[in-house]
Amino acid sequence: MEQALSPHGAPWAATRARMVEMAAGDVKWRDGKAAVYVFNAGEDVERVQKEAYALFASENGLGPAAFPSLARMEREVVAAGLALLHGPEGAAGSMTSGGTDSILMAVKAARDYARKVRGRQGPLNLVLPHSAHPAFDKACLVMEIEVRRTPLKDFLADPQAIEAAVDDATIMIVGSAPCFPFGLIDPIEALGALALRRDLWLHVDACVGGYIAPFVRMNGGDVPPFDFEVPGVRSMSADLHKYGYCAKGASTVFFRSEDLKKHMIFQVGDWPAGPMTTPTLAGTRPGGAIAAAWAVMQVLGVDGYRAKHGEVTRAREIIEAGVRARGFSVVGAPRLGILAFTREDVDCLAILGKLYERGWVTSAITRPRGLHLMLSPVHLTVADRYLDDLDWATQAARGQSGTGADVGYAR
Ligand SMILES: *Cc1c(COP(=O)(O)O)cnc(C)c1O
Repeated sequence: MEQALSPHGAPWAATRARMVEMAAGDVKWRDGKAAVYVFNAGEDVERVQKEAYALFASENGLGPAAFPSLARMEREVVAAGLALLHGPEGAAGSMTSGGTDSILMAVKAARDYARKVRGRQGPLNLVLPHSAHPAFDKACLVMEIEVRRTPLKDFLADPQAIEAAVDDATIMIVGSAPCFPFGLIDPIEALGALALRRDLWLHVDACVGGYIAPFVRMNGGDVPPFDFEVPGVRSMSADLHKYGYCAKGASTVFFRSEDLKKHMIFQVGDWPAGPMTTPTLAGTRPGGAIAAAWAVMQVLGVDGYRAKHGEVTRAREIIEAGVRARGFSVVGAPRLGILAFTREDVDCLAILGKLYERGWVTSAITRPRGLHLMLSPVHLTVADRYLDDLDWATQAARGQSGTGADVGYAR
């Protein structure tokens, strides 16, 4: 049986060779063919990720007393993140396994705050713009919180629509910086003003923007206030394994104060092995992910991130101009690494399928139907090739309609 565990094991060399062979059919992300799933900042960064991960692959962040090294690395990663995102004096945070985990923990903290501090009993709800990530729905499903998605205005969160959906049982409102579908930053200042006026918990989901937006701004890009600089923001999520270019399994969740963060922590005392305290959802916390994140941040530093993100910006500008010249229209005014673009005379999901035939794994949007790219530094080297293949794919898709299913994109 192929599926059963091999009875006597196998040599590592042969096993490794089989793995390399298995990967032969995977998207050629090292060649820049993936504009979703992988953030490719080049071989130099990949090497740091891997070697740092390997150094701490067996260590466990669950035990800070056993591994003060990891505890220190996490503290320093969190401090660096807070410094980038205008965390005020007393702000606090934790590393988590990813954006979904960070969002779940922020929702948990907001829920416990509503229950314990505000004394809210009974059903609760969370109000978010239609473009916010499904991780919020997952968190709400797990915690039995009602999700209220509100209509967008010009592809952005509409503070009026959000306010209209809020009531006494609302534990959180959300803005994205940026949202995944369009790569656009919601009007966080207006949401912050609403949060202060109505005393609401505003979470900014900067999962995909938190580690690029500050550097784009340093590079001279026009990035509106989106982080703790906006007074109404109480919590944020920012993924290290996206534009932080860290190994997968690493994100950060931040709170304006320790007093808010304390509602995230789990403490269980009533079982036979003594009290157990965990800051996040995880029990065991992979040392490798913490170590790799710390190492990549040390190696890149501000200059390194600015240079890598400068390449992303240039790639986006070239592709943006290129798709406009080819008759697409770009959704909104993207300022970071994601852009979405549409056209009406050819079905964009059919174009997506044709691009896949040429090895490109990219994403799509459905309302309106369009193509979606999440760019990495590597894309600067393949932007022209992408645009050539987009020409071909657009011609080849004329008169056809696609579902996106061939690309694993079935909506
Ligand atoms: C990626 C992403 C998430 C979820 O992060 P995972 O690491 O995939 O769990 C949440 N919000 C936004 C805006 C994202 O882009």
